[in-house]
Amino acid sequence: MDIQKMCKSLPKIELHAHLNGSLSTETLKKLHRLHNPNDNNYPEIFSLGEKEFLDENGKPVPPLRLCFQTFAAIQKLTITSESLYLATCEVIREFSEDNVIYLELRSTPRKVEGLLTKVEYIEAIILAIKECAKKYPTILVKLLISVDRKQGCQNAEENIDLAIKFMKKYPSYIVGIDLSGEPTMGDAFLHLLETSREAGLKIAAHCAEVPNEEEIMRILNFKPDRLGHCTCVHPNLKGSEKLFNELLKSKIPVELCLTSNVKCETVPSYALHQFKYYYEAGHPICIATDDKGVFDTTLSAEFEIICNQFGCEKHDLIKLSKSAVSYSFASEEEKVKLLSIIEQHQ
Ligand code: 5GP
Repeated sequence: MDIQKMCKSLPKIELHAHLNGSLSTETLKKLHRLHNPNDNNYPEIFSLGEKEFLDENGKPVPPLRLCFQTFAAIQKLTITSESLYLATCEVIREFSEDNVIYLELRSTPRKVEGLLTKVEYIEAIILAIKECAKKYPTILVKLLISVDRKQGCQNAEENIDLAIKFMKKYPSYIVGIDLSGEPTMGDAFLHLLETSREAGLKIAAHCAEVPNEEEIMRILNFKPDRLGHCTCVHPNLKGSEKLFNELLKSKIPVELCLTSNVKCETVPSYALHQFKYYYEAGHPICIATDDKGVFDTTLSAEFEIICNQFGCEKHDLIKLSKSAVSYSFASEEEKVKLLSIIEQHQ
């Protein structure tokens, strides 16, 4: 079997997927039609890396900034319960078609004046997850509530309060908090994340997407359950020996999203991605898509990349998937079931 087919056929575990960044072009078109039934002029929302965009001074917009501008454009299409429901169902269907058997989606609750409250935002996603459990029974889906570091303390508090309330109401769906948002802005709100941890929510925190030794150390000392990216940690990637050793010592699993980092240019190439350092050091890692729509990727494609770039073979991918199960926020019973599905493919 060729590598592409092998990667597609494997049962996979996705632990780092932002809902709005995961919307495919096909889904964005459906959403545009939903909000504008008489307008066939689909607005241009691009995949990153497709072309160069210029700012008001005619200078190219740096890819990391462009990526956050893209999220803002996409978010204009998920502004009602109906559109969020549709968006979530489409994302679950697409992951399921890629043979993902466990998906942790994450999303930032958003209020849209006159159209949507944060409570309705979360409820629409939960309804979609519930309905999809019947439609696509081979994929198990959970939700992490995101805190956007750029949106300030009040929003962070609101989202964490809602996450705690919804976790009590839907403990099998709401499993954790994600700290994300533009890494050059705002705060990590660790004191608020502590409240959610005490309430029983797991924590996945984006970390070291840009160099910032002081903040990276604070996040590591906080000991989230998982870390996202951890790009600028190794000395060859604008980190330091100290940071790299601290991370290895912590043994906190890192979610690695290769295409996202290459397209945002936070790493120079696939070959020089931090995957290499963590994999060689035997540090716990999992492979994820981040924003499969914006970065035009799939989890199978990410698996293919590590096969082609780093010589991983089928048994390595199975090992990675099995360890991803243990890093997931699924229940112990669910983990046993997921492991048995993966083992059947050995
Ligand atoms: P949403 O939370 O609206 O469902 O998904 C999009 C949001 O996820 C973005 O506005 C941003 O806050 C967050 N996000 C998506 N990809 C990344 C990433 O690579 N890094 C960080 N820090 N945040 C991201």
